[in-house]
Amino acid sequence: MPTPKKSRGVPKELLMLRALNPRMALADIDRRKYYSLEKGYQGEVMFDAITEGMKNNCIVVNDLLFKLKGKYFQTDTIIIFQKTIYLIDVKNFEGDYIYKSDPDRFCKNDTEIDDPILQLMRSESKLRQLLDEYRFNLPVESYVVHINPTFTLYIAPQNNHVILPTQLNRFIRKLENIPSNLNGGHQRLADLLISLDQGDYPNATKPTYTHEELKKGPYCSKCNSFSVSVGERKMVCNTCGCQEKLESAVLRCVGELRLLFPKFKITTNLVFEWCGGVFSKKMIRRVLKENYKLIGHGQWSFFE
Ligand SMILES: [Zn+2]
Repeated sequence: MPTPKKSRGVPKELLMLRALNPRMALADIDRRKYYSLEKGYQGEVMFDAITEGMKNNCIVVNDLLFKLKGKYFQTDTIIIFQKTIYLIDVKNFEGDYIYKSDPDRFCKNDTEIDDPILQLMRSESKLRQLLDEYRFNLPVESYVVHINPTFTLYIAPQNNHVILPTQLNRFIRKLENIPSNLNGGHQRLADLLISLDQGDYPNATKPTYTHEELKKGPYCSKCNSFSVSVGERKMVCNTCGCQEKLESAVLRCVGELRLLFPKFKITTNLVFEWCGGVFSKKMIRRVLKENYKLIGHGQWSFFE
């Protein structure tokens, strides 16, 4: 069984877009970004489920952002075996793609898009430099894994770095058959990689929004509908029937506020207003007290 060393978190940028999407009309560029981040993330999660089921000895380290010589590079999945490191980039592309030549380019229909193999080769080179810096000299093998069953590649490039959806099972079996005995050195390597993780991109582009313009009120956690009925203990969605405990709905709203407005001080009144006045201040205050730390006294107090 592989040792999963680091699980994958939802990128902060995606969390923000998820929180904004029901509350405002996203600009085209943000909507496209949202769609592509969500799709990419879902693909990575699908691949994680596959690596978790692998039957041999290896360490899987997911979702790292490194800084090398002042520049950032990101890795989806690193699998450490006894003699090799696998660097895997997961793509969740849908539809028909082709590699064209003269000049070499990767296209969807007739539109050229960034070639995932070129991105992968850049990451591979940077990962090798990083390993070199810390005197680890395992060779790196890298692959782009296309996980979406509707992905079709008409002309594949002349190398073996691409794993198509139909080849995925065979690829995983190949990985499972790699003889691998890990020792403390491999463990130290995994710990080192995790310690170098920079978290979220510090300079990720942020959509613009203001507190005033965002739609207020709680929405259904399942279908995003704002049409909900608030009872004594539960909130029920009028659209899909989904039920949620009031405390959970309030905490979800507080989570959004903290994510979207990190500089705001969380107060009962702020949460009351954000929830569109549908929850009582008394209940909000109780939930805040039970889940956050009260700082200060009287009208200047807030929760952290
Ligand atoms: Zn619903």
